[in-house]
Amino acid sequence: GSRAMRKFIVGNWKMNGTSADLAEIEAIAAMATSYAASVDSALCIPATLIDRATSRLLEYTLGGQDCHMQVSGAHTGCVSAEMLADAGAALTLVGHSERRAGQNETDADIRGKAQAAQNAGLKVIICVGETLEERDAGQALEIVLGQVQKSVPDEAGSDWLSIAYEPVWAIGTGRIPEDSDVAEMHWAIREQLVARFGPDGKNISILYGGSMNGDNAPMLLAIPNVDGGLIGGASLTATKFEPILAAA
Ligand code: PGA
Repeated sequence: GSRAMRKFIVGNWKMNGTSADLAEIEAIAAMATSYAASVDSALCIPATLIDRATSRLLEYTLGGQDCHMQVSGAHTGCVSAEMLADAGAALTLVGHSERRAGQNETDADIRGKAQAAQNAGLKVIICVGETLEERDAGQALEIVLGQVQKSVPDEAGSDWLSIAYEPVWAIGTGRIPEDSDVAEMHWAIREQLVARFGPDGKNISILYGGSMNGDNAPMLLAIPNVDGGLIGGASLTATKFEPILAAA
C-alpha cells in the first residue's frame, strides 16, 4: 500500500509453555531485539509465565492471550487485564477464534474485554475470521466485517488497537488463502475502520494470521493493508520465528 507503516509481528504461544521454556522466550526476545530498528514485535505467552518472563526481559513486549472484562470479582479461574498488566504484560489478544469457538465468546464479550484491556493500559489485538463453511457459502466478508463492527469499541484508536484477520480454516492447517482473498479482506476491513474512525483508521494495524511461516511471510507481508502477522506454530522457537521478522 501507499502507507509506510512499521510491520507488527506477534507470536501466539497458545496453551504451550512452562518454566522450562523461559530460555526459549529469552532467545526469541534477543532475536527480535536485533530486528527492533525496523520491525515491532511481541510474544503472547501463557499468563502463568508473564511475571517471570518480564522480570528477565524488561526490554521486550510480552502479552496475554485473553482477559476478563471485569476488573475483579467472583469469576473463578479468570484473569483480568489489570492482572496481566501487573504481571508485566503490555498487550493482550482478545477474541481469538479458539476462544470464540471453544469458550462461546460473543462479539459483545470481546468488545468488553478489549475495552477492559485498554482501561488497564494494555495494547489490544482483536482477532476476527471466518470458518471454511462461511467462506464456501460466500459469506466471509459479511461475517468478518460484522465481527469487526461489533467487537471493536467505539473509543478505538491506532495508539492501542490492532486487528488480526485469521481465517479459522488457515489456523494450524498449513493452508493459506489466495493473496487476492487476503487483499480483499484487509482492504474491506481498512475501509470500515476509516469510515468509522476517520483518518486514524488508516493507522490501525491489520495483521494476517493463519499458518504464516518463514516461507510464505514475504508474500503475505507484501499484500496491501497487511501490516503484520499473528503467528502460532512458527512463533514457538526463535529459529522458526526469525525468518518472519526478517521478511517484515
Ligand atoms: P498458526 O496459528 O500460525 O499456528 O496457524 C495462528 C493463530 O492461531 O494465531
